[in-house]
Amino acid sequence: MQKIHHLINGKSVPSTSGRTAAVFNPATGEQSAELDLASVEEVDAAVAAAQTAFESWSKMSLARRIKIMYNFRNLVEANVDEIARRLTSEHGKVLSDAAGEVARGIENIEYACGIAELLKGPYNMNASTGVDVYTVRQPLGVVAGITPFNFPAMVPLWTIPNAIACGNTYILKPSEKDPSAPMYIAELFHEAGLPEGVLNVVHGDKVAVDRLLEHPDVKAASFVGSTPIAKYVYETGTSHGKRIQALGGAKNHMLVLPDADLDLAADAAVSAAYGSAGERCMAISVIAAVGEIADPLVDAITVRMEKLTIGDGTDSASEMGPLITREHRDKVASYIGIGADEGATVVVDGRDHQFDNDGFFLGVSLLDNVTTDMTVYKDEIFGPVLCVVRCDTYAEARDLISANPWGNGAAIFTRDGGAARDFQENADAGMVGINVPIPVPVGYHSFGGWKDSLFGDLTMYGPEGVHFFTKAKVLTSRWPDPATSSVDLGFPTNG
Ligand code: NAD
Repeated sequence: MQKIHHLINGKSVPSTSGRTAAVFNPATGEQSAELDLASVEEVDAAVAAAQTAFESWSKMSLARRIKIMYNFRNLVEANVDEIARRLTSEHGKVLSDAAGEVARGIENIEYACGIAELLKGPYNMNASTGVDVYTVRQPLGVVAGITPFNFPAMVPLWTIPNAIACGNTYILKPSEKDPSAPMYIAELFHEAGLPEGVLNVVHGDKVAVDRLLEHPDVKAASFVGSTPIAKYVYETGTSHGKRIQALGGAKNHMLVLPDADLDLAADAAVSAAYGSAGERCMAISVIAAVGEIADPLVDAITVRMEKLTIGDGTDSASEMGPLITREHRDKVASYIGIGADEGATVVVDGRDHQFDNDGFFLGVSLLDNVTTDMTVYKDEIFGPVLCVVRCDTYAEARDLISANPWGNGAAIFTRDGGAARDFQENADAGMVGINVPIPVPVGYHSFGGWKDSLFGDLTMYGPEGVHFFTKAKVLTSRWPDPATSSVDLGFPTNG
């Protein structure tokens, strides 16, 4: 059995906590590795290593830091296949999805390669005579990242490149369900020339997370995961005086207006709802079908669902893989029965799809005539279950988003400029797509939702990511009038 240890101060460190977690291949249902779970002392050792490394790393020249970022970017690009293989073997997503995840992560490394430009502050000369005022951004110190299972490579890459390029040192606590890809990424960073102690990985559960949130030397933490834990992390971390950004769950709506391109909307709905088995925080989980498009749209989605190939993610024919764990698969499946009991129409029942192995597979499901009081509408299911809510008007559909406690992504499919313009302005979500179902921002904008999808002030990566990982210092300096200088500057009055 493969054993996965911590990475502290550049070295693989086996745990002495005596606590471990099983890592599975979701496509076979078999355990593939045993993961160490950190004790408080092991977290403290990682923080101490990061604290020591901060002294020199934060003062290393921008030129050297940038060189390491470029090396790292090239190594990740050269090893996309290996990272994707690890993602698929522990997460289950198909290899093409896994490679796409790495590509989105590379965008963030490329952004961080421009750190010299990003750290430039504004400067005013002669704010008062002889007085200059300027702003610099300085690193925070030791920072932490706590990441979810669904993007084990991309989400760590949302924050590590910017944080480290800014001069911070970092402790990653990846999901215990699929730790191999983030471990490999950390190894590549060291191969790129990153000094020991700048990036550490501790594996663990609540024990490790709580210690990171309480440790006096950890200055900030970025969290991505479910809403209840995001709220807990935000409240615990801020009560210990830390800067926290905590991204939570979602229930993303896609409005389809009667004038929408039906094929475009149906294709988008299927890929955005069932891609990665629906285990995406930006997955579409509700279609708000407006007016007469509802019937043809449900038909068009159903036809496409029947053609989806579900299987082992390493098989190039597979378009959707298994879910992350057996327990999660069973919980997602239970929602189909709950929806039916509460009055939804089960158009396609994923439980009918038979699989001939012990992997954590579930077929795709479509529930129609869902209403906002139903459990399937209110809960984040986080699986391949798409709900259709029928609305009479655009305004009714748009107001569903406002009334929803989450506000991660929202999309509209229409040919109408007026509706699109209104949606752009008034959709109550942090990331909005016009004829784009999953509007994940590119690396030079920032990612984050509203309401229960984000606790904190600054969103992740891009410009807000750099702000999150730096503190501004405003310098005001006064120098004597050169004419009165004690040194002979060669001015006529000096002599
Ligand atoms: P999760 O909340 O269970 O776990 C996230 C992290 O928190 C993991 O590292 C886990 O070890 C840790 N954790 C779990 N329980 C904890 C506890 N009691 N105390 C302290 N730490 C704890 O989330 P998940 O199941 O790994 O990921 C899926 C969730 O993440 C979904 O809700 C999804 O919407 C959300 N997500 C959100 C975004 C976003 O950008 N908003 C992105 C990806 C995933």
